[in-house]
Amino acid sequence: MFELDSPFKALSAQCQEWGHDFRAHALELDRDPEAIRRYFDLPAVRFLATMGIPEEYGNRPEPIGGHRFHGDRALERVVIMEELACADAGMLVASPGPLLAGVLLEVLGDRRQKEWFYGRMLADPLWTFFALTEPDRGSDASGMRTALTPGPDGTGLRLTGAKRYVGNACRAQLGVVFARTGPGPLGVNAVLTETAVPGYSAAPLPMIGLRGARLSTIEFDGVEIAEDRVLGRHLPRTRRGTWAFVQTFNRLRPGVAAIALGVARAAHTYVLTHRRSLRPAERERLDGIGRRIAATRRLIHAAAAAVDADGGNGYLASAAKARASRLAEEVTLEACTFFGPGARLDHPLLDKLARDARSMEFIEGTTSMQKLNLFQGLVSGRLERAGSPAAG
Ligand SMILES: Cc1cc2nc3c(=O)[nH]c(=O)nc-3n(C[C@H](O)[C@H](O)[C@H](O)COP(=O)(O)OP(=O)(O)OC[C@H]3O[C@@H](n4cnc5c(N)ncnc54)[C@H](O)[C@@H]3O)c2cc1C
Repeated sequence: MFELDSPFKALSAQCQEWGHDFRAHALELDRDPEAIRRYFDLPAVRFLATMGIPEEYGNRPEPIGGHRFHGDRALERVVIMEELACADAGMLVASPGPLLAGVLLEVLGDRRQKEWFYGRMLADPLWTFFALTEPDRGSDASGMRTALTPGPDGTGLRLTGAKRYVGNACRAQLGVVFARTGPGPLGVNAVLTETAVPGYSAAPLPMIGLRGARLSTIEFDGVEIAEDRVLGRHLPRTRRGTWAFVQTFNRLRPGVAAIALGVARAAHTYVLTHRRSLRPAERERLDGIGRRIAATRRLIHAAAAAVDADGGNGYLASAAKARASRLAEEVTLEACTFFGPGARLDHPLLDKLARDARSMEFIEGTTSMQKLNLFQGLVSGRLERAGSPAAG
């Protein structure tokens, strides 16, 4: 069984303490996703604003339990995300910072690109975005049509196309965009872009849950991209396209699972706090939920450790993400049953948790996509089947 050591326990305790601020503003942010602009001084928001920036690029977060956590490892991120999402997933995803874009940059960026991007993030809290999904081509990323083509006068490049469901894109200052330069898995590239440039426009989408994420549509109408903003130019071609994206998603996936786990835990804790007396059958049901939460946490931690050891090994992470998103949906709905038929009207936080949980299914790939990945891990033998002789 995977056990966290004491620095990680200190990190978890610190995030739990920071989480009180997140919970205090959860419902306000649900009503107005722009409320986050008033809370840039909260310690958790300040931490997230630079989370993921490695020490060598000048990130010096305050020590926690005698350690500096840069959030550049999957295991650190899952501990942070579970606690902060348990406080409020909306505040977590609304906070500025390099998060998804930073992980891609870590995999694909060269030294100068990282210095530029991280330097901007260290100077000011900025929102970033990570634009992959396109209208009508969500799960099928290989069908993307956004194009990166040479500029009309032969200088630089132009970005043309549309993206959809991209977190924070309507308020971000910087982002990464996936685009095609040619057919096939090697014809996909990622570029860095700023948003205050001609040809870029983004608009928020109405959302039922996780409103802090500010999902947006983006239009790129011939946005100029300098050649040195193309990620992975220093790498062999086979390491730039689909390979890099698989590595990036593998690293992100345990964190998404941890957000779902945090939402499930928030609902479980809500029942424990607000239903002081429970009938034996209710107590049994609640204990069962607690055991499922603990088991999913163990799976997420093992998945994060596997990805940290080998960025190509995201199979367990797929199992963790699929299990955690289902847990979030089931637990938030079951929590409502402890408060009778009017639960979602009488308990606005529970209602919000149930709405937030719904989005977990879609972030970073649906359950069907995770199952396909898991299946590939099993048939290729890279993931051992529990109980098989090889698994011990
Ligand atoms: C809160 C939130 C944040 C997000 N943030 C971002 C972001 O920052 N950047 C970004 O680029 N995207 C983001 N997304 C988009 C997300 O990645 C997509 O929603 C997801 O990839 C699914 O795409 P889709 O919604 O178009 O569904 P579809 O791909 O249309 O899928 C619909 C259904 O069909 C199933 N399905 C599709 N293909 C197959 C198949 N081959 N086999 C079996 N079943 C299949 C799916 O499992 C699903 O149940 C976000 C989404 C949400 C909800």
